[in-house]
Amino acid sequence: MTSTSEIVDFYRGSSTEDLAAAARALCERVHGRAILLRGLIEFSNDCVVNCLYCGIRAGNASVERYRLEPEELVAAAELAYAAGLRSFVLQSAEDPWYTVERLAGAVERIKERCPGAAVTLSCGIKSRADYRALKSAGADRYLLRFETSDPALHRYLRGGIVLERRLQALKDLRSEGYQVGSGFMVGLPGETEETRIANALLCARLELDMVGIGPFIPHPATPLAGSNQEPIELTLRMTSLLRLLMPTANIPATTAAGSLDPEGREKMILAGANVLMPNMTPTQVRKNYLLYPGKICLDEAGEKCLGCLALRMKSVGRELSFERGDSLRGALVADCGEAAFRSAAPLPARAAAAR
Ligand code: SAH
Repeated sequence: MTSTSEIVDFYRGSSTEDLAAAARALCERVHGRAILLRGLIEFSNDCVVNCLYCGIRAGNASVERYRLEPEELVAAAELAYAAGLRSFVLQSAEDPWYTVERLAGAVERIKERCPGAAVTLSCGIKSRADYRALKSAGADRYLLRFETSDPALHRYLRGGIVLERRLQALKDLRSEGYQVGSGFMVGLPGETEETRIANALLCARLELDMVGIGPFIPHPATPLAGSNQEPIELTLRMTSLLRLLMPTANIPATTAAGSLDPEGREKMILAGANVLMPNMTPTQVRKNYLLYPGKICLDEAGEKCLGCLALRMKSVGRELSFERGDSLRGALVADCGEAAFRSAAPLPARAAAAR
């Protein structure tokens, strides 16, 4: 069995290519060659928080604000369902108009009208009681990135809101029975290589079901406008480290990676990611959910988007899966051990294990 410190040593001493090869081999043994899909619906960009990095922060007066009505949100999920998707991520700014009652109502209707689909929420910090109500309404999963594990940097970047509060929210979500996702941006100003390693180790310690990471891309209308753009390689190296530390985690190849590098998502898949998140937000409003500049897929509607992704995945020897793709945490963890990456023993492929 390989320990966490051995994995980190391997990370430090290996080229990006060698890391990717090890992580990819492990990913294929655990998850097979299928890439899970999550239809992303960005339902409000009206934010009360002022994160320094974010293009839709409250203080950015140049943003055209929008909010899908609950019924429009439900309709967007139904369209994604009709396109074959069985897993949706409902993401928004921190928008108080969307009270827990309104959001829970939408979740209930989506679960009724899209039988068998999984609903993931990604709407920021809420009270434990709110998380409970949303779970009762049918939400299955929740994504809440901790953004950076450096407490001082976190507080600085998030307008005074502390890391501890996000970590408490993640604990609350776990206690309420959600499949839990978190993650971080790669290449934030003030971050070091040690911060990045600490970020990955925190993900492992939190025993996350899902880990979302992507490159930080400076937005011109934010206080971080002049920041350095770190290369995609940093994100690829982190993807591989996360996969080696967390064999069963669902790790998306994110839109930010595809926006920084035209082949960024393919590269993330080849570095150990196993999920894609096609954008299913109605195209009229999509351009206003601009967290960072250069965001891709702003005008492709559902079907066309899936066709493009299928071709892209074929180019890296993968195929799209329309399964709802629940967490494998627990199911396979005993078979994987902490670091199957060096063991020659074949692991059961995802398809065989999950069904
Ligand atoms: N309001 C929700 C959703 C935030 S948007 C929440 O607070 O959880 C989703 C993610 O986009 C954020 O968690 C952040 O990691 C990422 N993001 C924001 N600004 C970005 C930027 N400039 N570059 C790259 N990613 C960014």
